[in-house]
Amino acid sequence: MRDAVIVGGGAAGLSAALLLARARRKVTLIDEGRQRNAPSAHSHGLLTRDGFSPADIVNVGATDVARYGGEIVYAGVDSISSASDGAFEVELNDERVIRARAVLVATGLTDVLPELQGVSERWGVDVIHCPYCHGFEVSDQPIAVVGGDNRPFTLHQASLIRLWSDDVIFFPNTIELTPDEAASLNAWGVKVELGKVSQIAPCAPDGVLAVTMEDGRSFSRQAVFVGPKFVPNDKLLRALGCTPDATDWVEVDSEGRTAIDGVWAAGNVISSPAQIVNAASQGATAAISINHYLLARDIQAASSRANNA
Ligand SMILES: Cc1cc2nc3c(=O)[nH]c(=O)nc-3n(C[C@H](O)[C@H](O)[C@H](O)COP(=O)(O)OP(=O)(O)OC[C@H]3O[C@@H](n4cnc5c(N)ncnc54)[C@H](O)[C@@H]3O)c2cc1C
Repeated sequence: MRDAVIVGGGAAGLSAALLLARARRKVTLIDEGRQRNAPSAHSHGLLTRDGFSPADIVNVGATDVARYGGEIVYAGVDSISSASDGAFEVELNDERVIRARAVLVATGLTDVLPELQGVSERWGVDVIHCPYCHGFEVSDQPIAVVGGDNRPFTLHQASLIRLWSDDVIFFPNTIELTPDEAASLNAWGVKVELGKVSQIAPCAPDGVLAVTMEDGRSFSRQAVFVGPKFVPNDKLLRALGCTPDATDWVEVDSEGRTAIDGVWAAGNVISSPAQIVNAASQGATAAISINHYLLARDIQAASSRANNA
């Protein structure tokens, strides 16, 4: 029986595992190694690790966890169920079952990209979504923002990115702009090119991209920002009975506790805007909450033993 099992080994899961291992809890982290930012060569904005590769960040994190005796298993989790004795049974895709007193789900989210030729091929390289992660690297360069299904996010992006460059073209593509939206983008210095985009492709050896329209026009840009749909990897949480909020994301309290006793969630699985530092912070908060939960049960068990002696 482990004190805690953590599913997911990104910033949220690793940070929680570190705290729990240092609290001398028996903790097992299970991860199938598909961190969301893996397509990018460099990661930014994490204090002391700015410019590190995403792989280096998780490798350093895993080494930290192992140093304090935290166990890391590289596998997928198929299901989590509650056993009759109050423990959780975590079933791995290699048929192992790990029992635990508490569970933290930190499985991240899936970026559903606009269906446009070139987007998935260049994703995380020069087709990107987060100016706080990669905006500085393309400061003062020609930038495109291409519209897709995530209308509010993309419209916000089109204005936001103007802070990094005065050469921003917004291609609404499938988004219908209201006259007010078009006027405010125009006033803010964002050029709008109407019409459907047909593809995004490298057009020069130095990595410049061409945004090509269905009408044949083509625009050279250094980077293209898009708005994916953010879909939480929350299958395990929902199967346990965790309840979603009004926006259909699993609800947690300020410590990451779900509606199910003994189950916590942290990171992108409950919060799409969370960057690495936020996900790590949520993981650490959940870990301390889990440790306090375990402590209360440890004291309760010790008292029962003392009363029965
Ligand atoms: C292209 C790109 C670039 C980014 N760049 C930056 C940046 O520069 N700076 C920054 O701060 N943020 C960046 N981000 C955001 C960053 O990726 C997230 O903030 C961070 O990954 C969230 O951490 P997490 O632990 O919640 O999820 P993740 O890091 O996605 O980790 C979740 C883990 O859970 C695992 N998992 C899922 N389901 C299961 C299962 N059933 N069994 C076992 N394991 C499972 C996954 O394989 C994955 O390893 C970027 C995002 C993208 C898309």
